[in-house]
Amino acid sequence: MVAISRADCYALDTEDPLRDLRDEFSLPSGTTYLLGNSLGALPRRTAAKVAHTVETEWGRDLGASWNTAGWWDLPQSTGDRLAPLIGAGPGEVLAGDSTSTNIFKVMAAALPLRPGRRVIVSDLENFPTDRYVVEGVAKALGAYEIRDIGSLDEALDDDVAAVLLSHVDYRTGALRDMDAVTAQVHAAGAIMIWDLCHSAGAVTVDLRAADVDFAIGCTYKYLNGGPGAPAYLYVADRHQDAAHNVISGWHGHAAPFAFEPNYRPADGVRRFATGSPPVLAYSALNASLDIWDTVDMAQVRAKSVALTTLFIDLVDELRPDLVLATPRDPAQRGSQVSYRHADGYPVIRALIDRGVVGDYREPDIMRFGFAPLYLRYVDVYDAAATLAEVLDKELWRDERYQQRLAVT
Ligand SMILES: *Cc1c(COP(=O)(O)O)cnc(C)c1O
Repeated sequence: MVAISRADCYALDTEDPLRDLRDEFSLPSGTTYLLGNSLGALPRRTAAKVAHTVETEWGRDLGASWNTAGWWDLPQSTGDRLAPLIGAGPGEVLAGDSTSTNIFKVMAAALPLRPGRRVIVSDLENFPTDRYVVEGVAKALGAYEIRDIGSLDEALDDDVAAVLLSHVDYRTGALRDMDAVTAQVHAAGAIMIWDLCHSAGAVTVDLRAADVDFAIGCTYKYLNGGPGAPAYLYVADRHQDAAHNVISGWHGHAAPFAFEPNYRPADGVRRFATGSPPVLAYSALNASLDIWDTVDMAQVRAKSVALTTLFIDLVDELRPDLVLATPRDPAQRGSQVSYRHADGYPVIRALIDRGVVGDYREPDIMRFGFAPLYLRYVDVYDAAATLAEVLDKELWRDERYQQRLAVT
């Protein structure tokens, strides 16, 4: 492995086709922010857009804005803007609620599409909320068994109704083959639901090409929608007439302002809406989507691969003892690099104190996310150098770093 210098990284930055996008973001000086996989950075344009929504749409126009500012249509209009980022078509994506709630909605919609089948395949390694919600759906709908995936070959049989998996693993950054897995699940007669939380804005996703049934994801990670930004759900066109929203609220009614006594689902993905949308949060998300509209996901993916490869190469050189938890093959990873370290928590705290922001996940994972829109190659260089310094000098042994904070 040839040593790469900081000057080499500068040269890579000057050739980066996405380099100007960094100016779109407000990043604290002196910080190398490697947590865009957890909370994406703030786009500079967000404050003005939200201020407009507050002062003009709300303050001046008041309730008229449900019509004039498009508030009523926000779940669909925002969903249609998200669609190209995940390979969905118009009318297939609805923005709203949280990922957790959307998992409940799509799982409860998927299971009845396979009557007689009683097994949900889930992944014990998945982000806990996905598993918790699967437990909740199984209880609510009754008589469903949850089976851990282990290997997909062993998990699939004639009893499986639906499979929920993360496309990119939140701990290791490992990327599943969406086409192959979806095809295998379909061959077993089951419905495929993908969690795209660590995919959208980080890797190229083509839900239509993979023939995916349902998907969900959040927008506050790589998509920079802001803390608690509306999540989204995807329902393939072919399922939209048969799939039902278990939380059948008035925003998903066929004629919401007829105030009919009984529920009738709206056509299309709109039926998955439930109640009044958090308009201010949609405003922030749409500000970020103004940037994403201009971005070529193939370039984003290419830069993501280059950044993560550079980080792995540098750490290999500086600290060959560190145990990489992420696949070395770039085709098999998302936009994150993780290392296992028994003292990962204090190491991360020591790094944050020195301006390199990553995070820690149980049981021993140090995570570093690489958001291609605003990270530079020099940032990767500095992060690797600081990591090596913290380990070489055992700076993490400081008493201050041992105490766990509420949010790790
Ligand atoms: C981030 C993430 C979530 C978050 O769920 P919320 O309902 O937004 O809190 C869920 N699943 C996965 C796989 C995630 O990475």
